[in-house]
Amino acid sequence: MGKPRSPAGRAALLHARLEKEYDAHCELVHGNAFELLVATILSAQCTDVRVNATTPALFDYYPDSSAMASAELAHLEELVRSTGFYRNKAKNLRRMANQLLDSHNGEVPESRKDLVELAGVGRKTANVIRSVAFGLPGLPVDTHVGRLARRLCLTDEEDPERIEMVLNPLIPEKERGEFSLRLILHGRQVCFARKPSCDVCLLNDFCPSAFMV
Ligand code: SF4
Repeated sequence: MGKPRSPAGRAALLHARLEKEYDAHCELVHGNAFELLVATILSAQCTDVRVNATTPALFDYYPDSSAMASAELAHLEELVRSTGFYRNKAKNLRRMANQLLDSHNGEVPESRKDLVELAGVGRKTANVIRSVAFGLPGLPVDTHVGRLARRLCLTDEEDPERIEMVLNPLIPEKERGEFSLRLILHGRQVCFARKPSCDVCLLNDFCPSAFMV
């Protein structure tokens, strides 16, 4: 088979290759949608490893929205301090928990519109919750997804929401979350921001940026 010439052709081949290579999984440890929401809020500007080291103690004290809604702010700050930006994160967690109680019977909502109204939740986090916790369509665009989409010449956009709009029609609805998770794994393990390992990359026979970065 020749090299795909269109973005749609490259996206289809990319999707098929990554599917064979990577088990799509979210690296944030969680037991339910609330825990995933908290972990994802904490993961801003922080590694998943550090978040995973932080959340067990946090969930021991505050396992659900009603416990977290009445937390002492200073205690929340102390528990999430190691994830960085801890004052803002603690404030957002408590506010988010109160919003869940006030507007959603204490539960995490499924709709993107409701999710992005929660404190600390942007479009990327909403898409993580939708796709990972609920199995709904959602294509989170982080720095890895954006970089790979540009290197594969699927888009030249920089803005995450615009990138998502370009990628969405290229990937079947139900598979968008897993596609994003696999792109993130490939970005972390092979297609590094600096010095990507094109020599060992399973996409190097059709990636327009191969050996050029
Ligand atoms: S060939 Fe190189 S630039 Fe292209 S996806 Fe692979 S590692 Fe990234």
